[in-house]
Amino acid sequence: LPEQEAFDIEYWLLEEAKLQRMPKPKSLAGRVALVTGGAGGIGAATAQRYLTEGACVMLADIDTEALARSRDQLAGAFGADMVRTVEMNVTEEEAVAAAYAKIALEFGGVDILVSNAGIASSAPIEDTTLALWNKNMSILSTGYFLVSREAFKVMRAQGIGGSIIFVASKNGLAASPNASAYCTAKASEIHLARCLALEGAEAGIRVNVVNPDAVLRGSKIWSGEWLDQRASTYGTDKDGLEEMYRQRSMLKRNVLPEDIAEAAYFFASEHSAKSTGNIINVDAGNVQAFTR
Ligand code: NAD
Repeated sequence: LPEQEAFDIEYWLLEEAKLQRMPKPKSLAGRVALVTGGAGGIGAATAQRYLTEGACVMLADIDTEALARSRDQLAGAFGADMVRTVEMNVTEEEAVAAAYAKIALEFGGVDILVSNAGIASSAPIEDTTLALWNKNMSILSTGYFLVSREAFKVMRAQGIGGSIIFVASKNGLAASPNASAYCTAKASEIHLARCLALEGAEAGIRVNVVNPDAVLRGSKIWSGEWLDQRASTYGTDKDGLEEMYRQRSMLKRNVLPEDIAEAAYFFASEHSAKSTGNIINVDAGNVQAFTR
């Protein structure tokens, strides 16, 4: 190489190395996120991902003890000013409005909503009582409607757009045995997201969906009724179910709460500035595969 060119390259490499060592600006700095179901596995992992990127996070949940545990853990790592909690039942209109009022008071607004609070409760169709059907519809479908309706009001009034992320489920796209109430409620969340994406576009409010496949580790869902129901449907225990989900995925991997958090971060950040009404299946390739 001619001497000048070699010098230029060396200079450029040094500058590049300097840039690599410089602290990166945090991509969600100054943003406020509301995470429903923030006391649960996926919600807490998503809150942690957002806090890492500099966002302030309000964790909302019905389970106050688990909520306090999540807050203490995250506040220990990121500071008490960055993470707050609100007790909220997503099925109650007044509770949802009160939670948004608390966020306005403590953080001044909401830029990101992660609608994630949920349950999994199902049975074969003949055993699906109206109460069981309504429970799925009210916490999942109606709960997602109520929290996103309030988010729309706040985000429109702020006038700078926003990002709404629905944590739905692979089961909202594909049928799962003996789980019609849950699958139908999850499908309605996905379609609600599409409708809201259209309504919010002009105001810069983006609405996208993350569909997890089974996330057994860290999820409270997988320690109660749903675990028993799935175990009896597939004739195996929790370890067997985890292995089954792993085997039937293309990538032969299980999905973790952190994997969902990463997709929820993508939709919250400017990396997805031109995505709305879209879905990311975080499923290790399960939805598109016939590997069973
Ligand atoms: P999780 O049980 O660990 O967390 C869910 C949280 O939602 C809990 O803390 C619970 O207290 C809260 N919640 C339940 N009902 C509520 C209500 N009425 N109001 C407010 N909060 C309420 O479960 P997770 O695995 O973290 O699930 C999060 C979301 O992901 C749910 O919507 C679930 O359906 C969805 N999902 C989970 C899986 C999985 O395998 N874990 C797979 C697909 C989709």
